[in-house]
Amino acid sequence: MSNLVFGPITSRRFGQSLGIDLSPNTKQCNFDCVYCELKGAKPVDTILNPPLVEDIVDEVKQAQIKYKDIDVITLTANGEPTLYPYLKKLIKELHIIKNGSKLLILSNGATSTCRDTRDILKEIDIVKLSLDCVTQKCFKKIDRPLKGLHVESIIEGIAEFRKIYTKELVLEVLVVEGINDKESEFEALKDVLTSIKPDRIDIGTIDRPPAYNVKGISVERLKELANILTGLPVSIAYKKDYSEIKRDFTKDDILNMIDKRPQSFDDVKISFSDHSISTLKELVNEGNIHVKTVAGVKFYKLS
Ligand code: SF4
Repeated sequence: MSNLVFGPITSRRFGQSLGIDLSPNTKQCNFDCVYCELKGAKPVDTILNPPLVEDIVDEVKQAQIKYKDIDVITLTANGEPTLYPYLKKLIKELHIIKNGSKLLILSNGATSTCRDTRDILKEIDIVKLSLDCVTQKCFKKIDRPLKGLHVESIIEGIAEFRKIYTKELVLEVLVVEGINDKESEFEALKDVLTSIKPDRIDIGTIDRPPAYNVKGISVERLKELANILTGLPVSIAYKKDYSEIKRDFTKDDILNMIDKRPQSFDDVKISFSDHSISTLKELVNEGNIHVKTVAGVKFYKLS
């Protein structure tokens, strides 16, 4: 197999993921994020030397013979997958052969300003877009975008996309110490997210060596910031070895907590005592709380 298709890898949030790299040889992105896992590179507005759709489809077919139970076929890149010029054709072909898997794209969201891109993205089963900041100053500092990109237009583009997209929209916020970890940024973010209404919001921080000299924040701080996003379905990316004191909660405590912010199964696993878990199950059995799955992540929500 060449370097166009990789995996399957186990994604905690999406399951078994077979990846397609649309820029396999070099980083080609319209951002140059401080936290990128790839080496810093000048932002660009297109993918040069793009792989052929036929070659990608052939490799996906070969992988499907070898690996069963693929939950998602993930369109990604050493950079930004929506800069791939044959995306529309590729998605059409992948739908024909996906064989029970869902198509997922991981995009930084910048090209959602473009109507044609929105029309292409709406054909994908799960669309995950980044939105790290909602102010231009913060956006420029963290995402280091191509000149001329404005976060206000990107927000408008994502909001327009939400209007035409009926499948699963996930927005991701990556938090960097000293840049987008302030309450004021999260309060502004909350207003934007509340109006866009994504199905899920993933918030996380740096956990691999970043392109530039920046640091992540603690899980405790991540939780504090997540709590500002009241009422929204937030999934926190906990570090693998993270643990917390398991606490006893009453029915009222649990109802208040879930009213404030739907709790993911991970949230519950990390901070609920056995007694609290039994109480939670009672609330589910009584019909006060129900379980909702969004793009592979289970949440407890008020009924
Ligand atoms: S959008 Fe993704 S690939 Fe592009 S610079 Fe940012 S982290 Fe790296």
